[in-house]
Amino acid sequence: MSFDDLPVEVGPVFEGERIRGKQMYVELGGPKQEKKFELVRVVPSDKIEDGRVTIIGPDIPDIEEGSNVPWGIVIEMSGDKLEEDLESVLERRIHEFTNYIEGTMHLNQRYDVWQRVSKNAVKKGFNSLKFIGDILMRLYKAELPIVEKAQVTIYTDRGQMEAAYNEAMEIYEARDAKVRGMTDEGVDQFYGCVLCQSFAPTHVCIVTPQRTGLCGAINWFDARASARVDPKGPNFAIEKGDAIDESLGEFSGVNEIADSKSLGEVTRVALYSAMEVPHTSCGCFEAIVFYIPEVDGLGIVDRNFKGSAINGLPFSTMANQTGGGKQVPGFHGIAIEYIRSKKFLKHDGGWNRVVWMPSSVKERVKDDIPADMVNKIATEQEVSDLEQLEAFLKEKNHPLAASIVAAEEESEEEEEEEYGMAAAGGMPMGTMTMSVPGAGGVGGFTLILKNAKIHAEKVIIKRMDAGSKKRKK
Ligand code: SF4
Ligand code: ZN
Repeated sequence: MSFDDLPVEVGPVFEGERIRGKQMYVELGGPKQEKKFELVRVVPSDKIEDGRVTIIGPDIPDIEEGSNVPWGIVIEMSGDKLEEDLESVLERRIHEFTNYIEGTMHLNQRYDVWQRVSKNAVKKGFNSLKFIGDILMRLYKAELPIVEKAQVTIYTDRGQMEAAYNEAMEIYEARDAKVRGMTDEGVDQFYGCVLCQSFAPTHVCIVTPQRTGLCGAINWFDARASARVDPKGPNFAIEKGDAIDESLGEFSGVNEIADSKSLGEVTRVALYSAMEVPHTSCGCFEAIVFYIPEVDGLGIVDRNFKGSAINGLPFSTMANQTGGGKQVPGFHGIAIEYIRSKKFLKHDGGWNRVVWMPSSVKERVKDDIPADMVNKIATEQEVSDLEQLEAFLKEKNHPLAASIVAAEEESEEEEEEEYGMAAAGGMPMGTMTMSVPGAGGVGGFTLILKNAKIHAEKVIIKRMDAGSKKRKK
């Protein structure tokens, strides 16, 4: 396929391109926008004017350099073999395909999408957002021939985006809801997703009914539909095999796939633990489960949480620690939907181990938190540091409260023991020699203490400056 008529180049070689704040002409969506989205819909062929791109709102010439605008994109597609079940997986390719465009950067998915177009690209003639729509359609048709016709609508105006945004949110919810109520025990096959291997080469998402892919955009139905139409593509079936450990969620078939797809880097994967051989994390997880050693509990922080989580670290710092296809016990990338799962952190104690999460996430998943735990999990509204968290957990009688109290008593006893020893007998000494220099560096004397016990309220040590003999404090 030729992209010769375009002002910029297009290809996988541009996938890793980062566009920093100083280099960007415009930022589309991202953390500065409360509402942003991307959506693929499969529609009847007669509803499509093939190749059309419509922009609703300002385009590049109307946008001031360095600014941020709302972003919504709807790609409608048709094709004989296309079905609604494929929408999620088709939609997830927007990430990869947009990153193929020289001078653009695309992060995340669904309602978290964050894009940038560089000043360089605009200088080269990338003077309309229409290019994004146009290139995406060409890439879809070239890479996925089941896409026969397509049209794109781009929104950059907040007001005019509202209805389409609300519709997208309803569609995401309907997709997520489809798989709720199914269990991992109820199926023989899980599915794999390796779409993120271009960024995290050892990462493979194991998608099960009770564990959505960690971007939150690919559930078991989505991966199954995709594997059926393109079994050699990024999604494929995984025979579960034997349950090696039901509590951990460790299956022989999953381990084999992880081993082969990670080229031997990852040989064991637990689906239901953040602490023991946890599932790897790429970079597009919606939230992170993190271990809080002070209370031996787990916290959750999501991508949209502003400021620092209860352990003092912002999402971005923990994301660096978590991502890249690594298996990091205690830092675990997840989809928000997985928080609703009955298998959520099952091996680590499930909800009984969760101590802190952002209030917005808590509100979102409230119905799936066991009723007796809802008020026992703190958010940024109740506590702002670990000391307050400990007090909160004790006050609410969180399941971890007893062990927190026990640990406190133990450390108090230890302190008393140390103090007691010092107070009772002083520090026993053998022979100690102390040299006391005389004034001006001449004379002085030596003190020899044999089996002395020294009691001191305070010890002040002052260093003498060798050259000038001046006192330094
Ligand atoms: Fe696939 Fe997982 Fe990447 Fe989502 S996060 S696109 S499920 S590999
Ligand atoms: Zn990813």
